Amino acid sequence: MALKCDVLVVGSGPAGSSAARAAAKSGTKTVLIDNKKEIGVPVQCAEAIGKYLFPFLPFKIPKEQLIWKTEGMIFYADDINIERRGRVWRSYAVNRNDFDAWLANSAVKEGAALLTSAELVDMEIKNEYEVKRAIIKTPEGERVIEPRVVIAADGVDSTVLKLLGFKINKKGNIGEVLGYELKNLSLYNPNFEHLFIGDFAPGGYAYIFPKSKHVANVGVAAIFPEKSLEEYYKEFLEIPEVKRQVMGGITVEEKSGKVPIRYSTDMWVYGNVLLTGDVASQNLKPFAEGILPAVICGDIAGKTASDYLKGKISLNTYSNRVRARLGNFLKMSDKITDIAYELAESETKEGELLRLCLLADIISLKQISRLSETNRDEIKEKINDWQCSIIRQFITTTMENLNLFQAKFMQKIK
Ligand SMILES: Cc1cc2nc3c(=O)[nH]c(=O)nc-3n(C[C@H](O)[C@H](O)[C@H](O)COP(=O)(O)OP(=O)(O)OC[C@H]3O[C@@H](n4cnc5c(N)ncnc54)[C@H](O)[C@@H]3O)c2cc1C
Repeated sequence: MALKCDVLVVGSGPAGSSAARAAAKSGTKTVLIDNKKEIGVPVQCAEAIGKYLFPFLPFKIPKEQLIWKTEGMIFYADDINIERRGRVWRSYAVNRNDFDAWLANSAVKEGAALLTSAELVDMEIKNEYEVKRAIIKTPEGERVIEPRVVIAADGVDSTVLKLLGFKINKKGNIGEVLGYELKNLSLYNPNFEHLFIGDFAPGGYAYIFPKSKHVANVGVAAIFPEKSLEEYYKEFLEIPEVKRQVMGGITVEEKSGKVPIRYSTDMWVYGNVLLTGDVASQNLKPFAEGILPAVICGDIAGKTASDYLKGKISLNTYSNRVRARLGNFLKMSDKITDIAYELAESETKEGELLRLCLLADIISLKQISRLSETNRDEIKEKINDWQCSIIRQFITTTMENLNLFQAKFMQKIK
């Protein structure tokens, strides 16, 4: 017999669990399914979350989930490195398996029914995009679910999208990442995330994201690979400043996967289906940061489904709600994607330096466009100017603080 529910959420990653949590909390009968046997396993992530997104979250992340704190990012390209710290650059590391399990559990606590080892394999669709029945493969056999609303949160390789008839994973739309957790490392600066631009990561970047003093996620991400990612990874590990840190490192586990770079669809709502998380390319470029945007957008999807079922709004409200909450970030992300894409395709040293400027956010997008016409020396000069202005700014602030201190001191001894 078919299982009837209000909301079927496909995929219990950050987007799906957050959606199921919100839908169940609002009183709708919610079923959350995932094809994995154990939620969050295997991990396919570098496990960093930006602190700047915390104010946008629908709930607080418990302290015990935040296992390591970083103060900023250091960017490397050619012979240049740029350090950014404070404000938007602070991050935490999480253990994605624990994080995903905690989030799925909070959906269950709100009343969602969670089915693991449950894979969506087919859907009965009426009037183009109205999903009437979902066919789920489980170890006990096939199950049929009849939902009123479907929330597609099944990630970059979405079965829901394929069954709705979309062609996904087109070349250039997806970034490939080969990453490992390594332990026993001699990290120079474990309080910073390290990003490297170069031939070893065509169109993307390589990274060292610390999880403790001696443990880090290390990997290469590429949009336009011309050889295997394993070869790029080996080349990356041979860079002197990387080699010194990873020498003696022991691989704990592989955490590779794919990230959406461009949108696979024009909209986030089709019939009675809402798309959320990686399915909807709701990640923030240039880093393809997707964990917290998925949590935020998933929450909006869950609440919208519930409000719709209560007759309060139309499902199309979802896109407006996402734009109202994350619009500025998404708008900037879209702009950056277009420029980063062009630079990545050019594959020149100038392009790499400009991508460094873009990632480190040291010059405006307009300046980047203008500089794309110029040569390597001029770009380096611009980076140099920026670094000098930061030093000047530092000296000025230090001098102002010293003067203030001196004035206070003189007042005291008077
Ligand atoms: C190597 C790598 C490193 C990354 N590093 C970072 C990082 O450091 N910081 C960051 O913010 N983002 C990072 N990301 C991106 C981030 O992991 C994603 O943006 C995020 O996981 C998106 O969440 P989601 O819930 O949309 O999808 P997912 O986390 O992919 O969850 C989708 C779920 O759906 C399930 N599923 C799929 N198909 C079916 C089906 N047919 N039936 C049932 N269930 C199904 C899957 O098993 C999975 O559990 C990284 C990605 C990769 C690949």
